[in-house]
Amino acid sequence: MEASLDNASELPGTENVDTADPRGASYTTPTFLQSLIDAGMLIPTGVDGIYGRGGAYEAIAEGMNALVTQAGADQHAELMRFPPTTPRKDLEDSEYLKSFPQLAGTVHSFCGNERDHFRLLARLDEGEDWTDQQQPTRVVLTPAACYPIYPVIARQGPLPPAGRVVDVFSYCFRHEPSLEPTRMQMFRMREYVRLGSAEQVMAFRQMWIERGRALADELDLPHTLDVANDPFFGRGGKLVADNQRELKLKFELLIPVNDGAPPTACMSFNYHVDHFSTVWTLRTSDGEKAHTGCAAFGIDRLTLALLRRHGLELARWPRRVRAVLGNL
Ligand code: AMP
Ligand code: ZN
Repeated sequence: MEASLDNASELPGTENVDTADPRGASYTTPTFLQSLIDAGMLIPTGVDGIYGRGGAYEAIAEGMNALVTQAGADQHAELMRFPPTTPRKDLEDSEYLKSFPQLAGTVHSFCGNERDHFRLLARLDEGEDWTDQQQPTRVVLTPAACYPIYPVIARQGPLPPAGRVVDVFSYCFRHEPSLEPTRMQMFRMREYVRLGSAEQVMAFRQMWIERGRALADELDLPHTLDVANDPFFGRGGKLVADNQRELKLKFELLIPVNDGAPPTACMSFNYHVDHFSTVWTLRTSDGEKAHTGCAAFGIDRLTLALLRRHGLELARWPRRVRAVLGNL
């Protein structure tokens, strides 16, 4: 069966749905997540939102990432790759914990002596909680691929007159365990980041919105573009989110992936105004506060969107789509 949104009734859903069949018996439609697991695309680990990836899934993800590289070839972006960790101090300075404390992940390690170690093992043996014997380290998990670069670039001095364009890619962590396969705790994000004047960043963002849409068209993914907001924490966060929407600082490209749920944000186009140059000394060539923005591609979500749209059997995908992804 070739799965596509055109024959959505034959597709696995995102929830276990008891459906009355024509003979009056009831059966359960497997979830989209379950069908991804059954097809060897995702490998469950026992923790919601943390998956291994199978060979076919990775081939699609790599093709997707390569397609983004191709789309940005004329940008002559500086490539920067960081491990999926960020210095804790940088996360603190960035005000991430003010906005998204619920999503942050910190790295802790055992720093005790031998006596503490015996105690830890005894508690493990007893099935007791041992985690209070872990101490925070100087690293946290990266929440978005562009986060590590702002303090690094600030330390490199003022931007050149043309500003800078940086290409980043990272596994990112967000503590949002879910059974929706599109909401992972660790997922890959590819981004082009622009640092420069407000005009440079706005033009860059507009260009990437258009390129993002063209990319989705090439992959035959139905999509819409909408103003969006980030999930700012708490009551105060609601005001910040409303403001972000009002000022149209974030746009998302949405693609239907999960049954019975609104379409999923698979790309985002963000304008941070001068937030990062308020936090760090990021300056333009004439000494003004630099503005920043980014075009973010959710590589895992785009992979899932492709599997949803074209089905779990790559051999049955439209030839054109396979070709665009590097002859899968
Ligand atoms: P954001 O910084 O929230 O705009 O995220 C950038 C892109 O990363 C989104 O458009 C998604 O494609 C992807 N993304 C965000 N959160 C998740 C998640 N929990 N699981 C998988 N992909 C995600
Ligand atoms: Zn970003």
